[in-house]
Amino acid sequence: MTLVERFLKYVSFDTQSSEETGVTPSTPGQMVFARYLKEELESLGLEEISLDENGYLFATLPANTDKALPVIGFIAHMDTSPDMSGKNVSPRIVQNYDGKDIVLCAEENVVLSPTQFPELLGHQGEDLIVTDGKTLLGADDKAGIAEIVSAVVYLKEHPEIKHGKIRIGFNPDEEIGLGAHKFNVEQFGCEWAYTMDGGEVGELEFENFNAASAKISFKGRNVHPGYAKNKMINSIRIANRFMSMLPADEAPEHTEGYEGFYHLIGITGEVEQTTLSYIIRDHDRARFEERKKEMERLVAKINEEYGPNTATLELRDQYYNMREQIEPVMHIIDTAFAAMKAVGVEPRVKAIRGGTDGAQLSFKGLPCPNIFAGGLNFHGRYEFVPIQNMEKAMNVIVKIAELVASK
Ligand SMILES: [Zn+2]
Repeated sequence: MTLVERFLKYVSFDTQSSEETGVTPSTPGQMVFARYLKEELESLGLEEISLDENGYLFATLPANTDKALPVIGFIAHMDTSPDMSGKNVSPRIVQNYDGKDIVLCAEENVVLSPTQFPELLGHQGEDLIVTDGKTLLGADDKAGIAEIVSAVVYLKEHPEIKHGKIRIGFNPDEEIGLGAHKFNVEQFGCEWAYTMDGGEVGELEFENFNAASAKISFKGRNVHPGYAKNKMINSIRIANRFMSMLPADEAPEHTEGYEGFYHLIGITGEVEQTTLSYIIRDHDRARFEERKKEMERLVAKINEEYGPNTATLELRDQYYNMREQIEPVMHIIDTAFAAMKAVGVEPRVKAIRGGTDGAQLSFKGLPCPNIFAGGLNFHGRYEFVPIQNMEKAMNVIVKIAELVASK
């Protein structure tokens, strides 16, 4: 099977994950896919193949040299986004893309157009795999899986390329933020790994947000409005006062790059009680801590103004910037850089404005930056992947294996 054949086979599995079920994997389709992959890896002659009850599939390509080398890993996720159906994906290859509109679905008038998606123009002359406009494609992250499997096959077929022991790992439930939770880092047994996930050629990510959630509850006092003078305390107004004390420009819609924010994600309120839910994000750990302290200060201020215990705050850390864990082993970034350059890919380092499985794995003791898998417009019907992008990602994997062995 070629890289493209593999990819097309993988997207035929419906592996949409779900936040509702509370089990791992969150949907049975992911296990069906995992079993298929396990058989494929067996037929390819890989070793130490294991699939646990949570749907984590690991395998080994043994070293082909006696040199003492670190064990490295490549990881991708099997699930697709809960945002859009991944059932009956019906992909189509647009050969030698001409830079014009691509009609995905004529009867529903779904068009993939460079007017809305100018990144298409960077892929003229390439072969794009697109959807039929009714589902997502699933390049996130089945492109990553196809690239890893194909790279391992390539290494097996090219024994002249010397490499150390390589582990590959496919996990469920990344899209619901649970891909790393039950990932057995010890069993995976790597010194470091790379996730092959996410976007455009050259992307290399080893920084993400520090993240916390904050829930603030405001207590009011309800009295008949006709008799409320000097008695009623409207918790909605107090909550509004709190909101107005936070810097208005430090919100997602006003920030980019390394700028952090407070993001109000929900309000429930009536006179008696109002609750605000925020998420707090910052790449810088010190500024992140400062943002949490600011929340505490503002809550204290509300309580000074309206009386003790009017406002209560629940702060919870969610994840941290993996940079902390990567910095002591920057050579793993240097290797990825060198591998990209060697295969003609210009590295583009980008700070993730979100979290990744790799960040959680890094804090579990497996330093794990992220490398592009080549797909674009994730999580919806406009998702596509240039075949040439996938080939480049596969070449990067092969080259990393080679470079690690040549040191
Ligand atoms: Zn992904």
